Amino acid sequence: MGHIIEIPLGQTLSTGKPILWLNPEYQADKGFQSSELTLSDIHQADQRLRRFAALLQQLFPELLSSNGLIESELLSATNLQQQHYPDLSGRLMIKGDHALPVAGSVKARGGIHEVLCHAEQLALEHGIISSNDDDYLKLLNADAQALFSRYEIAVSSTGNLGLSIGIISAALGFRSVVHMSVEAKQWKKQRLRDRGVIVVEHSDDYSAAVAAGRAASNADPASYFVDDENSPRLFLGYAVAALRLQQQLIEQQIPVDAEHPLFVYIPCGVGGAPGGINFGLKQIFGAHVHCFFAEPVQAPCVLIGMLADDKAHPDSVYQAGLRVDTEADGLAVSMASGWVCSVIEKMLSGVFTVTDDELFINLFRLCQSEGIDIEPSAAAGFSGPAWLTETEPGKAYQQQHQLESSMHNATHLLWTTGGLFVPAEEMKKFAQRGAQLSAQ
Ligand SMILES: *Cc1c(COP(=O)(O)O)cnc(C)c1O
Repeated sequence: MGHIIEIPLGQTLSTGKPILWLNPEYQADKGFQSSELTLSDIHQADQRLRRFAALLQQLFPELLSSNGLIESELLSATNLQQQHYPDLSGRLMIKGDHALPVAGSVKARGGIHEVLCHAEQLALEHGIISSNDDDYLKLLNADAQALFSRYEIAVSSTGNLGLSIGIISAALGFRSVVHMSVEAKQWKKQRLRDRGVIVVEHSDDYSAAVAAGRAASNADPASYFVDDENSPRLFLGYAVAALRLQQQLIEQQIPVDAEHPLFVYIPCGVGGAPGGINFGLKQIFGAHVHCFFAEPVQAPCVLIGMLADDKAHPDSVYQAGLRVDTEADGLAVSMASGWVCSVIEKMLSGVFTVTDDELFINLFRLCQSEGIDIEPSAAAGFSGPAWLTETEPGKAYQQQHQLESSMHNATHLLWTTGGLFVPAEEMKKFAQRGAQLSAQ
């Protein structure tokens, strides 16, 4: 593993070799304040999801057991740790968003939150409900359905955001349009079409699909565009995960404090989902949580975005000589959200990059050791613990933040971001590829 921070980083990145980049602007103690958003905004997003819980249970029977909350388990990864992280002191855990109900990926909290914001606003404006304390099941009656059917919700996606937005907006009765970029898997498009969603296929990359989808939606006053590059509503929905994780850590009696640091490794595409989680965790745990994002070697758009002097206008990975091509469709993004990069400027500890081979090997290892199936994107974080504990930049980070003496008490959390809906035959191919690579 190489450690390369020297400029020109563009040229170093363009070799396509994995690296760990430490964010020089990270501030452990005060860097988690944002000028725009606060912990109270996250609580409001959580409250909104709870207001809709009864309605969501009606629409999605899989939510009956969780009383309408869309949440995943916090799992210990004992077998995985014993077999594949034998030298890791501290505890290895998994935040299982691969099994997040309704949308099957980390996109569920953010995407559903944003659609609910819009539906709630329309319902209030048109008198379907009179206040936030009203009975939200009224959104299922004929008046509401007639109202929502006059409006469109559109989004651009590499696959999973489209699933999230498409499924919830169609279920609520909206006209739903999903613009899919070139890497979107066929089965994800089919799953949406089966639910009455209009899928527009683009032959270009994700940033281009966002530009096209945004332009088409803006031309229609009845259309609302979920803008993955600039969306506080998505971001706050993602951030709710931090409140839920806090609760789960308490229930499992896992402390997070100066003696018990928490390291979180999250796969990253445009930056919204990991950024929201990073923001939320920082509001709760402050200096005691350390968030690292994982990006494909060919698509480290947030790493490049964080290098920019003007965070609001990030360069694309093409400008660094990279090609975006990766089997991690959820992470195949050429340009980061400049807005997210600005918000997390001082909160993000660092970014490491991963090859596609590593994704399949780690996917296979998880399946073998824990019986958990995930999609390739969701395996991107698995090299995080080794970066932090076995490499020069990782050790430098520990030293900088005086973590060496508490590493044996650390919790290393792998965030598995998607996989629930992957068809069995696709899953089998992924695992076979991982098995072959492991045997080499
Ligand atoms: C979208 C996605 C991510 C990353 O989220 P961004 O908001 O694009 O950064 C990670 N994993 C999976 C499986 C995803 O679908």
